[in-house]
Amino acid sequence: MGSMIFSSRLVKKERIASQVYHLVFEVPPEFRFTPGQFALMDIILEDGSKLKRAYSIASGPSLLPKIEFCIKIVEGGAASPQFEKMEIGTEVKSVGPLGNFIRKDPARTAVFIATGTGIAPFRSMLLDKSAASEMYLLFGARYETDLLYEEEMQQLAVRDSRFHYTSILSRPKDTYEGNKGYVQDLLDTELPAGLDADYYLCGISNMVESVKMALEQRGIPATKIFCEIY
Ligand SMILES: Cc1cc2nc3c(=O)[nH]c(=O)nc-3n(C[C@H](O)[C@H](O)[C@H](O)COP(=O)(O)OP(=O)(O)OC[C@H]3O[C@@H](n4cnc5c(N)ncnc54)[C@H](O)[C@@H]3O)c2cc1C
Repeated sequence: MGSMIFSSRLVKKERIASQVYHLVFEVPPEFRFTPGQFALMDIILEDGSKLKRAYSIASGPSLLPKIEFCIKIVEGGAASPQFEKMEIGTEVKSVGPLGNFIRKDPARTAVFIATGTGIAPFRSMLLDKSAASEMYLLFGARYETDLLYEEEMQQLAVRDSRFHYTSILSRPKDTYEGNKGYVQDLLDTELPAGLDADYYLCGISNMVESVKMALEQRGIPATKIFCEIY
């Protein structure tokens, strides 16, 4: 699918965690994408200068001509703090869709592993109505307040018996009753032994590298591991 330069208009913005926004943009009617792809946005800074940053599309294709994003305001970051101030109606120039982080074989079992806003491309894949395989989503975050789309994912898992969702927190309150630890810890507890699947990893580089190593230690060949590093 070819990419295009397009203008998108912010139509909705919702804070879904302490530093994370769910953003809805209206895009031109001819815009198409494959779940897992991203848009490269022009972010205009206060002094009028411009930075380009990539953001994974977090919505399914059926939402077009709207697309959604899940964007973290990175503390001290050069561009992302602009999303905090961005007002409804703002036009953002972008190039997209870009990227190859898409399901290699949509019929094969897929294990999605994400921390933080790394959940974005997987939400798009999960909301893709043409997706028809067994899918697992293992999601990691620090605190209770960092859980993203938790209720939506739980409900998806209730509605679709082929989708399995588990989250884990590394620094929850003592009273937290869910899983405690790192997303790698879920590999042994949540996936059936001998599972034949493709593994998709998305998040910041430390996490992706350590999960990749954990998978390889469990005998998963590198050819079945696909990564998107933020
Ligand atoms: C293909 C691709 C898709 C991306 N999709 C998303 C997305 O859907 N949502 C999103 O929030 N970001 C996403 N990013 C990251 C995004 O492009 C920016 O890097 C991020 O917004 C920080 O930009 P900045 O200018 O504020 O920070 P900079 O001043 O450029 O500082 C970068 C620092 O922020 C860290 N960082 C970058 N992204 C994150 C993050 N999400 N959480 C924690 N730390 C981070 C980097 O590791 C680095 O240390 C994606 C990156 C790539 C390459």
